[in-house]
Amino acid sequence: MASIKVSVNQDSCIACGVCYSLCPQVFEAGADGKSQIVPQYRTGDKVFEGEVDESLKDCVETAKNSCPTFSISAS
Ligand code: SF4
Repeated sequence: MASIKVSVNQDSCIACGVCYSLCPQVFEAGADGKSQIVPQYRTGDKVFEGEVDESLKDCVETAKNSCPTFSISAS
């Protein structure tokens, strides 16, 4: 099954909450309100990098395209 690499730029994220409102399956709020990847999809030891199944592509794309600071990358 194909997967998508997802990451959040912690420097540019302004903790607006849009991504984890739209796609809580993949994104959640960190302690400071900035977005991070939910535990089940994290890769390595960084909370803001992960990999999700292709079935979550629309969810991730919607969040990515709605982020006001273009902080979400998905490939
Ligand atoms: S939508 Fe963008 S700026 Fe807002 S919390 Fe998510 S990553 Fe951060």
